[in-house]
Amino acid sequence: MTTEVSAKEPVRQRINLPGTREEECFGWTYESVTEVGTDMAGQEYLQGLLRQQRRFEIDKLLQVPSGISRLSWLYEHMRQICVELGFYLAQLFHECTERECPVMRANETTFYCAGHGHPRPCSAMGYSVHTLDYAVRLLSSGTAFPDRSDIQDTSMKHFQSMVRRLYRIFAHAYFHHREFFERQESATYLYARFVRLARKYELAPESQIIIPDLPTTIELPAVTK
Ligand SMILES: [Zn+2]
Ligand SMILES: [Zn+2]
Repeated sequence: MTTEVSAKEPVRQRINLPGTREEECFGWTYESVTEVGTDMAGQEYLQGLLRQQRRFEIDKLLQVPSGISRLSWLYEHMRQICVELGFYLAQLFHECTERECPVMRANETTFYCAGHGHPRPCSAMGYSVHTLDYAVRLLSSGTAFPDRSDIQDTSMKHFQSMVRRLYRIFAHAYFHHREFFERQESATYLYARFVRLARKYELAPESQIIIPDLPTTIELPAVTK
């Protein structure tokens, strides 16, 4: 008896075997969240959807799949948005400097940073990094979210608070680094997903959504099936 896996057999396991070509990595799908069968099932399921190049099909991404509750799906999306915002800020860092943007502004409004015990002005990049850090810590907090597979209504206030603050990062990019915003949005649809999520779960009043709808020159790719 051998335990060796033959490269010629169809591989049913969901692993990237050594030698798998990059474009073929993660080439599996799940029918439901429960099928993933790990502690991080929701996250893995969502990342699987994103890898299947469905970033622009936002309504489908937000649709609650079977095997997970509506609020746990929101939680997974917020975690994923924070992960992607980390990459977003790493790109924005090249042009949003302390000299260019010494305080956090979105349109004409200046915001104080809440990441220091007491609110104080921070550069736009400092504010963005501190705010993302706050959101990630909150999502990992056992007090705010004791069980990610069973998110309660009482946690909604935490989502509202983080959406309000994270929104300003996008607003700063839109009003002060428009080209960057559009470039990112064309590639990732991250803001579109974020704002759609906020609206779907009523996490922000419309008065706080200051980036106009259809703000960019983004062209949605033709959906090929
Ligand atoms: Zn800036
Ligand atoms: Zn700060």
